[in-house]
Amino acid sequence: MKKIAVLTSGGDAPGMNAAVRSVVRKALYEGLEVAGVFNGYQGLIDGKIELFQLGSVGDIIHRGGTVLRSARSAEFRTLEGRQKAVKQLTLNGIDGLVIIGGDGSFRGAHELTTLGIPCVCVPATIDNDINGTEFTIGFDTALNTVIEAIDKIRDTASSHERTFIVEVMGRDAGDLALWAGLAGGAETILIPEEQYDVEDIVERLESGTGRGKKHSILIVAEGVMSANELATLLNEKAGIETRVSVLGHIQRGGSPSARDRVIASEFGARAVEVLMAGRGGVAIGMQNHQVVDYDLEQVFQTEHQLDAAKYKLSKELSI
Ligand code: ADP
Repeated sequence: MKKIAVLTSGGDAPGMNAAVRSVVRKALYEGLEVAGVFNGYQGLIDGKIELFQLGSVGDIIHRGGTVLRSARSAEFRTLEGRQKAVKQLTLNGIDGLVIIGGDGSFRGAHELTTLGIPCVCVPATIDNDINGTEFTIGFDTALNTVIEAIDKIRDTASSHERTFIVEVMGRDAGDLALWAGLAGGAETILIPEEQYDVEDIVERLESGTGRGKKHSILIVAEGVMSANELATLLNEKAGIETRVSVLGHIQRGGSPSARDRVIASEFGARAVEVLMAGRGGVAIGMQNHQVVDYDLEQVFQTEHQLDAAKYKLSKELSI
Protein backbone atom coordinates (compact mmCIF):
# COMPACT_ATOMS: atom_id res chain seq x y z
CA MET A 1 0.00 0.00 0.00
CA LYS A 2 1.79 3.15 -1.23
CA LYS A 3 -0.99 5.55 -2.06
CA ILE A 4 -4.48 5.79 -0.60
CA ALA A 5 -7.44 8.12 -1.09
CA VAL A 6 -10.28 9.39 1.08
CA LEU A 7 -13.82 10.48 0.23
CA THR A 8 -16.99 11.53 2.03
CA SER A 9 -20.35 10.26 0.80
CA GLY A 10 -24.09 10.39 1.50
CA GLY A 11 -25.60 12.74 4.09
CA ASP A 12 -23.05 15.11 5.62
CA ALA A 13 -22.33 14.94 9.33
CA PRO A 14 -20.34 17.22 11.66
CA GLY A 15 -16.94 15.69 12.27
CA MET A 16 -16.42 14.41 8.72
CA ASN A 17 -13.68 17.01 8.29
CA ALA A 18 -11.91 15.87 11.43
CA ALA A 19 -11.97 12.33 10.01
CA VAL A 20 -10.61 13.46 6.63
CA ARG A 21 -7.84 15.36 8.42
CA SER A 22 -6.98 12.31 10.48
CA VAL A 23 -6.77 10.01 7.44
CA VAL A 24 -4.55 12.46 5.55
CA ARG A 25 -2.22 13.26 8.45
CA LYS A 26 -1.89 9.67 9.62
CA ALA A 27 -1.15 8.50 6.07
CA LEU A 28 1.54 11.16 5.63
CA TYR A 29 2.96 10.37 9.06
CA GLU A 30 3.28 6.73 7.95
CA GLY A 31 5.01 7.73 4.72
CA LEU A 32 2.11 7.02 2.37
CA GLU A 33 0.88 9.27 -0.40
CA VAL A 34 -2.72 10.37 0.08
CA ALA A 35 -5.31 11.88 -2.24
CA GLY A 36 -8.67 13.52 -1.61
CA VAL A 37 -11.64 12.62 -3.81
CA PHE A 38 -14.20 15.41 -4.20
CA ASN A 39 -17.98 14.88 -4.48
CA GLY A 40 -18.17 11.33 -3.14
CA TYR A 41 -18.56 8.37 -5.46
CA GLN A 42 -19.62 10.61 -8.34
CA GLY A 43 -16.33 12.48 -8.05
CA LEU A 44 -14.51 9.16 -8.12
CA ILE A 45 -16.22 8.27 -11.41
CA ASP A 46 -15.43 11.74 -12.79
CA GLY A 47 -11.81 11.65 -11.63
CA LYS A 48 -12.04 14.57 -9.20
CA ILE A 49 -8.95 13.39 -7.37
CA GLU A 50 -6.25 15.62 -5.91
CA LEU A 51 -2.99 14.74 -4.20
CA PHE A 52 -3.01 16.09 -0.62
CA GLN A 53 -0.24 17.49 1.58
CA LEU A 54 -0.21 18.26 5.31
CA GLY A 55 -1.59 21.75 4.65
CA SER A 56 -4.47 20.45 2.52
CA VAL A 57 -6.40 19.61 5.67
CA GLY A 58 -5.27 22.56 7.80
CA ASP A 59 -7.89 24.61 9.64
CA ILE A 60 -10.78 22.19 9.05
CA ILE A 61 -10.99 20.22 12.31
CA HIS A 62 -13.60 22.60 13.74
CA ARG A 63 -15.74 22.96 10.64
CA GLY A 64 -19.07 21.23 10.04
CA GLY A 65 -20.06 19.69 6.69
CA THR A 66 -17.29 18.26 4.53
CA VAL A 67 -14.60 20.15 2.61
CA LEU A 68 -14.45 17.16 0.23
CA ARG A 69 -18.14 17.77 -0.40
CA SER A 70 -20.62 14.93 -0.64
CA ALA A 71 -22.95 13.68 -3.33
CA ARG A 72 -25.44 10.97 -4.04
CA SER A 73 -24.51 9.07 -7.18
CA ALA A 74 -27.02 7.00 -9.13
CA GLU A 75 -24.27 6.07 -11.61
CA PHE A 76 -22.21 4.41 -8.88
CA ARG A 77 -25.11 2.06 -8.20
CA THR A 78 -24.52 0.52 -11.65
CA LEU A 79 -21.66 -1.89 -12.40
CA GLU A 80 -20.54 0.31 -15.31
CA GLY A 81 -20.31 3.29 -12.95
CA ARG A 82 -18.25 1.35 -10.44
CA GLN A 83 -15.97 0.06 -13.19
CA LYS A 84 -15.32 3.67 -14.22
CA ALA A 85 -14.43 4.42 -10.59
CA VAL A 86 -11.97 1.49 -10.52
CA LYS A 87 -10.39 2.80 -13.74
CA GLN A 88 -9.87 6.24 -12.18
CA LEU A 89 -8.31 4.70 -9.09
CA THR A 90 -5.94 2.62 -11.22
CA LEU A 91 -5.04 5.64 -13.37
CA ASN A 92 -4.17 7.58 -10.22
CA GLY A 93 -2.17 4.70 -8.73
CA ILE A 94 -4.44 4.45 -5.70
CA ASP A 95 -4.17 1.15 -3.81
CA GLY A 96 -6.88 1.60 -1.16
CA LEU A 97 -9.75 3.85 -0.20
CA VAL A 98 -11.22 5.25 3.02
CA ILE A 99 -14.94 5.99 2.76
CA ILE A 100 -16.50 8.27 5.34
CA GLY A 101 -20.30 8.09 5.33
CA GLY A 102 -23.45 6.23 6.28
CA ASP A 103 -25.03 2.87 5.59
CA GLY A 104 -25.59 3.52 1.85
CA SER A 105 -22.00 4.60 1.36
CA PHE A 106 -20.89 1.41 3.13
CA ARG A 107 -22.86 -0.67 0.62
CA GLY A 108 -21.10 1.14 -2.19
CA ALA A 109 -17.75 0.41 -0.52
CA HIS A 110 -18.65 -3.26 -0.24
CA GLU A 111 -19.36 -3.41 -3.99
CA LEU A 112 -16.08 -1.64 -4.77
CA THR A 113 -14.14 -4.06 -2.57
CA THR A 114 -15.55 -6.97 -4.59
CA LEU A 115 -14.04 -5.29 -7.70
CA GLY A 116 -10.60 -5.56 -6.12
CA ILE A 117 -10.19 -2.17 -4.42
CA PRO A 118 -9.61 -2.52 -0.66
CA CYS A 119 -12.08 -0.16 1.05
CA VAL A 120 -12.28 0.75 4.73
CA CYS A 121 -15.41 2.51 6.03
CA VAL A 122 -15.62 5.15 8.74
CA PRO A 123 -19.15 5.66 10.13
CA ALA A 124 -20.39 9.24 9.92
CA THR A 125 -24.09 9.99 10.18
CA ILE A 126 -26.18 11.92 12.67
CA ASP A 127 -28.61 8.97 12.75
CA ASN A 128 -26.23 6.70 14.72
CA ASP A 129 -27.72 3.75 12.85
CA ILE A 130 -24.75 1.63 11.77
CA ASN A 131 -24.50 -1.93 13.05
CA GLY A 132 -21.35 -2.83 14.95
CA THR A 133 -20.57 0.61 16.34
CA GLU A 134 -22.07 2.25 19.39
CA PHE A 135 -21.42 5.72 17.98
CA THR A 136 -21.15 7.32 14.58
CA ILE A 137 -19.38 10.60 13.87
CA GLY A 138 -21.86 13.50 13.99
CA PHE A 139 -24.39 11.98 16.36
CA ASP A 140 -23.08 13.74 19.46
CA THR A 141 -23.04 17.14 17.76
CA ALA A 142 -26.55 16.71 16.36
CA LEU A 143 -27.79 15.55 19.75
CA ASN A 144 -26.39 18.65 21.41
CA THR A 145 -27.99 20.84 18.75
CA VAL A 146 -31.36 19.22 19.44
CA ILE A 147 -30.95 19.59 23.20
CA GLU A 148 -30.12 23.27 22.85
CA ALA A 149 -33.32 23.74 20.82
CA ILE A 150 -35.45 21.75 23.28
CA ASP A 151 -34.13 23.80 26.22
CA LYS A 152 -35.14 26.99 24.43
CA ILE A 153 -38.55 25.62 23.52
CA ARG A 154 -39.01 24.54 27.14
CA ASP A 155 -38.64 28.18 28.26
CA THR A 156 -41.60 29.17 26.12
CA ALA A 157 -43.57 26.03 26.92
CA SER A 158 -43.26 26.72 30.61
CA SER A 159 -43.91 30.48 30.38
CA HIS A 160 -47.06 29.98 28.34
CA GLU A 161 -48.12 26.64 29.83
CA ARG A 162 -48.14 24.91 26.49
CA THR A 163 -47.55 21.51 24.99
CA PHE A 164 -44.87 21.48 22.30
CA ILE A 165 -44.17 18.85 19.68
CA VAL A 166 -40.58 18.83 18.45
CA GLU A 167 -39.83 16.97 15.20
CA VAL A 168 -36.30 15.63 14.86
CA MET A 169 -34.47 13.78 12.07
CA GLY A 170 -34.57 9.99 11.85
CA ARG A 171 -36.43 8.28 9.02
CA ASP A 172 -35.67 4.72 10.10
CA ALA A 173 -33.65 5.18 13.28
CA GLY A 174 -34.86 6.68 16.54
CA ASP A 175 -31.53 7.18 18.32
CA LEU A 176 -31.51 10.96 17.96
CA ALA A 177 -35.11 11.26 19.19
CA LEU A 178 -34.55 8.82 22.04
CA TRP A 179 -31.33 10.36 23.35
CA ALA A 180 -32.71 13.88 22.89
CA GLY A 181 -35.89 12.91 24.69
CA LEU A 182 -33.93 11.44 27.57
CA ALA A 183 -31.53 14.37 27.83
CA GLY A 184 -34.25 16.95 27.28
CA GLY A 185 -36.74 15.46 29.71
CA ALA A 186 -39.46 14.90 27.13
CA GLU A 187 -42.81 13.49 28.26
CA THR A 188 -43.27 11.34 25.17
CA ILE A 189 -40.84 10.07 22.54
CA LEU A 190 -42.07 8.59 19.27
CA ILE A 191 -39.52 6.57 17.29
CA PRO A 192 -39.77 4.44 14.14
CA GLU A 193 -38.71 1.24 15.91
CA GLU A 194 -41.63 1.28 18.36
CA GLN A 195 -45.38 1.26 17.82
CA TYR A 196 -47.14 4.31 19.18
CA ASP A 197 -50.59 4.49 20.69
CA VAL A 198 -52.44 7.79 20.51
CA GLU A 199 -54.64 6.87 23.46
CA ASP A 200 -51.52 6.33 25.54
CA ILE A 201 -50.06 9.72 24.53
CA VAL A 202 -53.34 11.44 25.40
CA GLU A 203 -53.54 9.61 28.72
CA ARG A 204 -50.00 10.65 29.66
CA LEU A 205 -50.68 14.28 28.76
CA GLU A 206 -53.98 14.34 30.63
CA SER A 207 -52.62 12.66 33.73
CA GLY A 208 -49.78 15.22 33.75
CA THR A 209 -52.27 18.05 33.52
CA GLY A 210 -54.29 16.40 36.29
CA ARG A 211 -51.22 16.47 38.53
CA GLY A 212 -50.84 20.19 37.90
CA LYS A 213 -48.21 19.92 35.17
CA LYS A 214 -48.21 23.14 33.20
CA HIS A 215 -46.35 22.15 30.07
CA SER A 216 -45.12 19.15 28.11
CA ILE A 217 -42.59 18.35 25.41
CA LEU A 218 -43.18 15.58 22.91
CA ILE A 219 -40.42 14.42 20.57
CA VAL A 220 -41.29 12.76 17.28
CA ALA A 221 -38.79 11.26 14.84
CA GLU A 222 -39.67 12.25 11.27
CA GLY A 223 -40.00 8.59 10.25
CA VAL A 224 -43.03 8.11 12.50
CA MET A 225 -45.02 11.08 11.21
CA SER A 226 -44.62 14.82 10.95
CA ALA A 227 -45.08 17.01 14.01
CA ASN A 228 -47.99 18.69 12.25
CA GLU A 229 -49.72 15.34 11.71
CA LEU A 230 -49.29 14.50 15.37
CA ALA A 231 -50.65 17.90 16.37
CA THR A 232 -53.75 17.33 14.23
CA LEU A 233 -54.19 13.83 15.63
CA LEU A 234 -54.05 15.02 19.26
CA ASN A 235 -56.43 17.84 18.49
CA GLU A 236 -58.95 15.63 16.73
CA LYS A 237 -58.78 12.79 19.26
CA ALA A 238 -58.77 14.76 22.49
CA GLY A 239 -59.01 18.47 21.74
CA ILE A 240 -55.41 18.92 22.91
CA GLU A 241 -53.82 22.07 21.60
CA THR A 242 -50.13 21.96 20.81
CA ARG A 243 -47.40 24.07 19.22
CA VAL A 244 -45.09 22.56 16.66
CA SER A 245 -41.37 23.00 16.06
CA VAL A 246 -39.63 21.24 13.16
CA LEU A 247 -35.87 21.40 13.67
CA GLY A 248 -34.93 20.36 10.11
CA HIS A 249 -31.47 20.77 8.67
CA ILE A 250 -29.99 22.76 11.53
CA GLN A 251 -29.49 19.30 13.07
CA ARG A 252 -26.92 18.37 10.42
CA GLY A 253 -24.75 21.47 10.59
CA GLY A 254 -22.50 23.25 13.00
CA SER A 255 -19.07 22.90 14.47
CA PRO A 256 -18.46 19.31 15.65
CA SER A 257 -18.46 18.63 19.38
CA ALA A 258 -15.20 17.71 21.11
CA ARG A 259 -16.37 14.12 21.31
CA ASP A 260 -17.10 13.89 17.59
CA ARG A 261 -13.70 15.39 16.77
CA VAL A 262 -11.97 12.87 19.00
CA ILE A 263 -13.74 9.79 17.64
CA ALA A 264 -13.32 11.09 14.08
CA SER A 265 -9.57 11.41 14.69
CA GLU A 266 -9.40 7.91 16.17
CA PHE A 267 -11.52 6.28 13.45
CA GLY A 268 -9.62 7.97 10.61
CA ALA A 269 -6.23 6.88 11.90
CA ARG A 270 -7.43 3.30 12.48
CA ALA A 271 -8.75 3.16 8.91
CA VAL A 272 -5.26 3.98 7.61
CA GLU A 273 -3.71 1.28 9.81
CA VAL A 274 -6.17 -1.30 8.45
CA LEU A 275 -5.34 -0.36 4.85
CA MET A 276 -1.62 -0.50 5.62
CA ALA A 277 -2.14 -4.07 6.79
CA GLY A 278 -3.51 -4.77 3.31
CA ARG A 279 -7.06 -5.34 4.48
CA GLY A 280 -10.23 -4.21 2.70
CA GLY A 281 -13.97 -4.72 3.24
CA VAL A 282 -13.61 -3.48 6.81
CA ALA A 283 -15.67 -1.10 8.97
CA ILE A 284 -14.30 0.96 11.84
CA GLY A 285 -16.37 1.54 14.96
CA MET A 286 -16.54 1.82 18.71
CA GLN A 287 -17.44 -1.00 21.08
CA ASN A 288 -17.19 -0.68 24.86
CA HIS A 289 -15.30 2.62 24.47
CA GLN A 290 -12.62 0.97 22.33
CA VAL A 291 -11.98 1.62 18.66
CA VAL A 292 -12.51 -1.61 16.74
CA ASP A 293 -12.48 -2.85 13.16
CA TYR A 294 -14.72 -5.57 11.83
CA ASP A 295 -15.96 -7.23 8.66
CA LEU A 296 -18.02 -4.78 6.59
CA GLU A 297 -20.60 -7.48 5.85
CA GLN A 298 -21.63 -7.48 9.51
CA VAL A 299 -23.13 -4.03 8.96
CA PHE A 300 -25.72 -5.42 6.54
CA GLN A 301 -26.55 -8.66 8.32
CA THR A 302 -29.14 -7.32 10.74
CA GLU A 303 -31.44 -4.35 11.18
CA HIS A 304 -30.12 -1.56 13.37
CA GLN A 305 -31.07 -2.36 16.96
CA LEU A 306 -32.55 0.24 19.23
CA ASP A 307 -31.14 0.56 22.74
CA ALA A 308 -34.13 -1.07 24.46
CA ALA A 309 -32.88 -0.25 27.98
CA LYS A 310 -32.74 3.45 27.17
CA TYR A 311 -36.23 3.38 25.68
CA LYS A 312 -37.57 1.65 28.79
CA LEU A 313 -35.80 4.20 30.99
CA SER A 314 -37.25 7.10 29.01
CA LYS A 315 -40.74 5.70 29.69
CA GLU A 316 -40.01 5.23 33.39
CA LEU A 317 -38.67 8.74 33.85
CA SER A 318 -41.51 10.46 32.03
CA ILE A 319 -44.41 9.14 34.08
P1 ADP B 1 -25.59 7.42 3.37
O1 ADP B 1 -24.21 6.94 3.13
O2 ADP B 1 -25.63 8.67 4.17
O3 ADP B 1 -26.50 6.32 3.90
P2 ADP B 1 -26.86 7.11 0.71
O4 ADP B 1 -27.74 6.00 1.13
O5 ADP B 1 -27.45 8.18 -0.14
O6 ADP B 1 -26.17 7.87 1.95
O7 ADP B 1 -25.62 6.46 -0.07
C1 ADP B 1 -24.60 7.27 -0.61
C2 ADP B 1 -24.17 6.76 -1.97
O8 ADP B 1 -23.64 5.43 -1.84
C3 ADP B 1 -25.29 6.64 -3.00
O9 ADP B 1 -25.57 7.84 -3.67
C4 ADP B 1 -24.71 5.60 -3.97
O10 ADP B 1 -23.83 6.22 -4.90
C5 ADP B 1 -23.89 4.71 -3.06
N1 ADP B 1 -24.65 3.48 -2.74
C6 ADP B 1 -25.65 3.31 -1.86
N2 ADP B 1 -26.12 2.05 -1.88
C7 ADP B 1 -25.40 1.39 -2.81
C8 ADP B 1 -25.41 0.06 -3.32
N3 ADP B 1 -26.26 -0.88 -2.86
N4 ADP B 1 -24.52 -0.26 -4.31
C9 ADP B 1 -23.66 0.66 -4.78
N5 ADP B 1 -23.60 1.93 -4.34
C10 ADP B 1 -24.46 2.31 -3.38
